Amino acid sequence: MNGASGYCERLGMDEAARARRLALMDLGEGERCQAEALHEVIAPRVEGLVKVFYDRLLVHPEARAVLAQGFRRADLERTQRAYLLSLGRDFTSRAYFEERLRVGLAHVWAGVGLSLYIGAYRILEDLLMAALEEAERRELLPFLVKVVALDVSLAVEAYHGVQVAGLSETLASLRADQRRIHAELEHDALTGALTRRAIMERLEERLGRDRERPFSVIMADLDRFKAVNDTHGHLVGDAVLRESVRRIRAALRAPDLVGRYGGEEFLVLLDGTGLNTALEVAERVRRHLEATPIHVKGHQVPLTLSQGVAQWLPGERLESLLQRADSALYRAKQGGRNRTEWAET
Ligand code: GH3
Ligand code: MG
Ligand code: MG
Repeated sequence: MNGASGYCERLGMDEAARARRLALMDLGEGERCQAEALHEVIAPRVEGLVKVFYDRLLVHPEARAVLAQGFRRADLERTQRAYLLSLGRDFTSRAYFEERLRVGLAHVWAGVGLSLYIGAYRILEDLLMAALEEAERRELLPFLVKVVALDVSLAVEAYHGVQVAGLSETLASLRADQRRIHAELEHDALTGALTRRAIMERLEERLGRDRERPFSVIMADLDRFKAVNDTHGHLVGDAVLRESVRRIRAALRAPDLVGRYGGEEFLVLLDGTGLNTALEVAERVRRHLEATPIHVKGHQVPLTLSQGVAQWLPGERLESLLQRADSALYRAKQGGRNRTEWAET
């Protein structure tokens, strides 16, 4: 992987970050020759180093547990050999950082814990120090310590990056859950209409938002619904309620809101709609409901609706608007039901 989609970019290790990291480890261009000298020390001894490294690492149960997951020691040794032969070489390059991050990520994905990874580095550093002759040690030890610190810091970067990615995934799924739960809470479980609280909130919001544009409400109550329960039973009553809401919705436009105001009473918000249009809409709803009996569980239930319509008066409070719609509904009931009445503006 390279270019803009490389590990460096994904883990926020751009050129400036790489320069800062080198400065933090006190590593500079001037140490390139030390890197080559270190390579000269490692190259002829690499086979022995790798063997002893795994002998010592696999003393620890956590290391053996990783190996037991199906990794072959021969493959690990080959990887480790390549790693050692590249240690410190061209350490200022993007490719060096990229390779270290890749190795770190490979260990995360292999299930190697960070503490085991750091422990392995400690063993490696120990072996390398022991491999340096007295004269080499004076010249190369500071560089060795710094370059191993650089590699460890990049491994930590990889572990951290995976953790952050995991956390943001968790966060995204929690947010989605939250949205779903919120949507569920706003809707009545039986009919799918907005709850009373939710439709009231929408109305309050609407009152506060746009005081120039008209809007109207319909207060709608199913006629003689108690008789439906008494005749067909409560379960049929429930199904009839559900179908009633479906029919009310079908007669409205998508942005119109339907809330369950009470048991068999609904509140419709028609935004941008004045009284005359609201009356036409209400009549469409009423006719749609009475047009054919509702069929449920082998029962045929004829059903009608009485409605009170009111247009919001500029400056009017919600309570007063609902009061006027309710009075109109009351008149519709008094006037014989299955009809729509309105509040004068
Ligand atoms: P009106 O024309 O005057 O409105 O008569 P009504 O019978 O519809 O009015 P009333 O207020 O006397 O009765 C309403 C009935 O609605 C009584 C109640 O059991 C029923 N109801 C309310 N909520 C539900 C519900 O969720 N499921 C069922 N099955 N019935 C419900
Ligand atoms: Mg009723
Ligand atoms: Mg009622």
